[in-house]
This record gives sequence, C-alpha cells and structure tokens, in this order.
Amino acid sequence: MRRVSIFGATGSIGQNTIDLIAREPDAYDVVALTGSSNIKQLAQDAIRLRADVAVTADEARLDDLRAALSGSDVEAAAGQAALTEAGCRPSDWVMSAIVGAAGLAPGLCALEQGATLALANKESLVCAGQLILSTAKAHDARLLPVDSEHSAVFQALVGEDMSAVERIIITASGGAFRDWPLDKLAKATLAEASSHPNWDMGQRITIDSASMFNKALELIETREYFGVRGDQIEVLVHPESMIHAMVGFNDGALMAHVGPPDMRHAIGYALNWPDRQPLPVERLDLAQIGSLTFRAPDEVRWPALRLAREVMERGGLSGAVFNAAKETALDGFIAGNINFPAMAEVVDEVLNCTDPGHIDAPMTLDNVLTADQMARQAARDVIEQRAG
Ligand code: NDP
Repeated sequence: MRRVSIFGATGSIGQNTIDLIAREPDAYDVVALTGSSNIKQLAQDAIRLRADVAVTADEARLDDLRAALSGSDVEAAAGQAALTEAGCRPSDWVMSAIVGAAGLAPGLCALEQGATLALANKESLVCAGQLILSTAKAHDARLLPVDSEHSAVFQALVGEDMSAVERIIITASGGAFRDWPLDKLAKATLAEASSHPNWDMGQRITIDSASMFNKALELIETREYFGVRGDQIEVLVHPESMIHAMVGFNDGALMAHVGPPDMRHAIGYALNWPDRQPLPVERLDLAQIGSLTFRAPDEVRWPALRLAREVMERGGLSGAVFNAAKETALDGFIAGNINFPAMAEVVDEVLNCTDPGHIDAPMTLDNVLTADQMARQAARDVIEQRAG
C-alpha cells in the first residue's frame, strides 16, 4: 500500500484528491490529512479514510477537531508545528494543496523525508523555487506538477530533450472579467470576481484568475520548475480552457495538451505517474466543441503579468515579496478595503519600495519567511494609506 498525505485536504484540490483516493481504498494507507477552518469535513474524511492523524492549522479549533474525531482512532493535532510534524511523517506521496505561502514549510518537510511531492501549491515555487528544488535534489525526492498548465507541459515533455525546447505557452481563460469594459473593473464586486467561467476552484485562486495574478504566479512557477528563461514563456488567452499548455520545439512543432477543465486529470496523473490509469473525467468530443479560440493577453487589463516578468528579471527573494503582497492585497479586496484594480497597484508599490537587502538575501526558509512578513506589512501599510 502506498502511504499518502494530503495537505489542504478540505480545499478544492484536496477534495478532488480524496475523490480519487477513496475510489481505491485498498491501494492507499492515509497518513495525514490537514485543513484549517473546515473541521467537519476534515474529521469526516479522516475517519472515512482511516488517517493516522488529522491536523488543523488553527490551534483554536483543536477542541472542535478532537470532539469531531471522538470514538475514532484518528489522532488530532493543531497549529503550525503540528502541520510541520505531519509533513515529517513518512509518506510515499504527498499532495501539497494548502493555499498560499503557508504551504511552503510542510512541503519542504515532506521533501526532506524523500517523499514524492505533488505540488498544487504554486506559491512554494514562486516564493522559494531554488530552495524547493535543491531540497528535493538533496533528499532524492521527486516533485510532480499539479497545476493543470504545468502538468500539461510535463506531459508534453515526456521523452523530449529540454535543449530542443524553444518556448512554453501556458493558457489562461481570462477569468471573470475577460470581456468587461476596463472602466467597469473598479466597480467589480467580490461575488463577480469569485465566479469562474470554466473552472470550479477555491475562492482565492478564482479571484486570482480574474486579475491574472494566478497566471502571473504560474509564469514564475514555469520558469522555476522547467528551468527556462522568462522570455521563453508565453501566456495565451484561450477562453475555452481545453488546451492547458503547449511546448514549442526547435523544429517548429508545437505539442499541445488538450483535456477537460477538471483538476482530477492533473491530480490523477501525478498520483499514477509514471503510469497512466483510467480517470473519471469527461472524454472531450472535439467535433461537438467545434472550435477553439486564442488571443494575446492585454497587459493593461492584467498588469499582474508585467509584474511577474519584472519579478523573474529581478530574481532572488522578489517572488516571496510578490506573493506576500499579492496575498495581502487579495485579503484587502475580499475585506472590501480596496477595489479590484488596486490589488495590482498595491503589489507594484510594495515591489518598488522593498529594500534590495531583503531581495538579495540567501534563499533560506528563514529569509523567505522574513521577506514574506515584511512584504505583508508593507502591503497593509499601502492599503491603509490609500484608505486614509
Ligand atoms: P482552497 O481554498 O479550496 O483550499 C485551501 C486549503 O488550505 C484548505 O484545506 C484550507 O483549509 C487550507 N488552508 C487555508 N489556510 C491555511 C493555512 N493558513 N494553513 C494551513 N492550511 C490552510 O484552495 P484550492 O484547493 O483552490 O487551492 C490550493 C492550492 O492549489 C493553491 O495554491 C492553488 O493556487 C493551487 N491550485 C488550485 C487549483 C484549483 O483548481 N483549485 C488549480 C491549480 C492549483 P480550510 O478549508 O479547512 O480552511
């Protein structure tokens, strides 16, 4: 039996992962499931999957978790130290699906144990790409992409030599505001930004899709994961979300990965890798779909893409600053403290005012977390100044 752990088990990716694992209960020995606020779901899944331990990131909810697990053999734990401890429990395969920079430390622990890390948490690579890659290498651990675009690129590269790769194209649906008049964006509501035309995802990534901060993170993730230059990566708006990515080779060939907008494909590929196994996803009928459309992204509508390119150029810990400022700006939008276009303005301002000393510090976990905290404070200050 394969020992598996799921970090962020109560979220959208976590629940899709559980859906696949629960179909083959005899194939998996579940070690740890983690969540944060959704104690009912966490306990229910931990009992159903007979996990060794269920961990909530929120220490204040430990008693609730204990109560929900009472009568079962599942151990209850809470807090950051417990999350890290769960990451250190031996597992063969770990799903990293906590949202935000909070996913970094548990993922590093799993890599240190030599586990295969299925990485949905793109923020880990954005904040600390070199640290993640060097930790995986040092512990002979494997990193598998779960983001649909990166899984698509990974699949298009099977049997290929990276030296023949000229470019990588990642697609973007354009999110909720793809066709909105630009002057209406300042009036966009939280409900409007939280509704995705094609994908059913967590609220934060859905809003990040509308602002293209999600694609901005993925640009950086692509560079880190596949080791290509920023100018080799293109973003293409593709409203139907059928082609997830394409790889362009030096003979002019473009290998495109086509699949339904269902994360269980990419999760299942990472779960079954290096084999393929049947998955319960829709089989596309291209004759029925008829046509697929593409257009270049508009960087006035989506300034996040320009900011990501600046971050790739700058390097060092600027990814951690970018992500933390973005997460704080997103909190600000969700709380109603800033409007939709202001998210990019806040991130731009934080990147411009960051002390170069923070960005050029060596990439250790401590320095990444310091840069993260500093950028969050700077973003809160910018948001407060704008309000005042
Ligand atoms: P969700 O918001 O649906 O789920 C997030 C998970 O993280 C939940 O289990 C949540 O617990 C937990 N969590 C929240 N805050 C913390 C914290 N501070 N510490 C520890 N755990 C926490 O997110 P998604 O599943 O949509 O996304 C997860 C990751 O996968 C993100 O990095 C996202 O960018 C990436 N991703 C998601 C895709 C998707 O289709 N959803 C596609 C590709 C990548 P609780 O719910 O109990 O509060």
